Amino acid sequence: MSSWADATERNPCAACYNSSVQAPEGTPLYVHLPFCAAKCHYCDFYSVPAEGHDRHAMVQAILAEARLRAPLHPSLVFFGGGTPSLLDHDELRVLLDGLDQICGWRSSSLETTAECNPESLDQSKAETLLALGVQRLSIGFQSLDPATLQLFGRVHTVEDSFAAYAAARAAGATNVNIDMIYAVPGQDPEQWQRDLSKVLDLGPDHLSAYNLTFEEETVFRRWLEQGRLQQHSEERELRFFVETRAALAARGLDAYEISNFARTGRECRHNLNYWANGPYVGLGPSAVSKVGVTRSGNIKAIGAYVRGALSGVRPEAWEETPSPLQRLAETWWLGLRTRAGLSAHEARVRAACDADDAAFLNEARALEQQGVLACANDTWTLTPKGLPLADWIAKRFLALAD
Ligand code: SF4
Repeated sequence: MSSWADATERNPCAACYNSSVQAPEGTPLYVHLPFCAAKCHYCDFYSVPAEGHDRHAMVQAILAEARLRAPLHPSLVFFGGGTPSLLDHDELRVLLDGLDQICGWRSSSLETTAECNPESLDQSKAETLLALGVQRLSIGFQSLDPATLQLFGRVHTVEDSFAAYAAARAAGATNVNIDMIYAVPGQDPEQWQRDLSKVLDLGPDHLSAYNLTFEEETVFRRWLEQGRLQQHSEERELRFFVETRAALAARGLDAYEISNFARTGRECRHNLNYWANGPYVGLGPSAVSKVGVTRSGNIKAIGAYVRGALSGVRPEAWEETPSPLQRLAETWWLGLRTRAGLSAHEARVRAACDADDAAFLNEARALEQQGVLACANDTWTLTPKGLPLADWIAKRFLALAD
């Protein structure tokens, strides 16, 4: 699962299709591969079952888009999706070699990640990814409960997950993330702790543990509305959240963001850039870019994306320039999600905003009074009481830009 592809709809803007915003050299690069073995019932990222689609054409279209707009020498590269590991060896070689010829990422990237799923990651695939320059593998386990995997619509087994992890290590991967989801309907917090413990026994460098959400236009959302699934109470979700952080900290994986945990030095730089409201260029259908103060998103349809890119037209569907106050609000809530937090000065710099920020500081002080924010050396962070309220706090800051 990746947060770098747009999961929301925006008004298309035909006038923006040939936007002239070009990313400076070194801008991080995200590449969205939209194919999966099957569509998971909880997933709202832009991805489609691979069967019946021309993966070769998609690879060529992404390379065509890269020729139009990939930044030279990106400092970070992230292959997300979708399921990049679904590409076969030749497709991976064509894509990663082709991108290197276009933008020279291999000589510049400080961290290159590929998202993988257990059904499409064996040792030879992992060896291919590493040989092609990938340094970090992210594997979607999601659950160690067979019934939950079935409920999720996942196509792999628990055994496949362990085999994929072993394959990654046997291939020589030294930086491995595992994705897990908790607070699943019917899940017992104690069973989750036992499963988490088994995952930690593997020794991952990084773990993303997400509280299940019921996003619009997903099967899970429909099942929730039909009463086929029951969400846990807020108290129970809080218990999952608190116990997960404690269990991971006890095993040397510290929370550096609400849902992300890492050994020291293994924090995901690409995601840190996102939470710092940094720039990035996204290639592939639905991929979002942020260059300067302008954001844009690609067409969210396989055929239209491929036709557009191959005909030499930037396959953008929308472009927007948030106001200085909107940028400031986003920068505050993104930065507060991280352990490092942010200062008011950092927020203004990251948001490229010289507007009056008194309302933001007043809001931060009000939240401090409520015990959900803390300030030390001018840096604001969420308190233990504020951590589970991050989404509510985000809304408070975003409301200041209205
Ligand atoms: S594997 Fe599942 S969760 Fe991941 S992008 Fe594909 S459909 Fe979404």
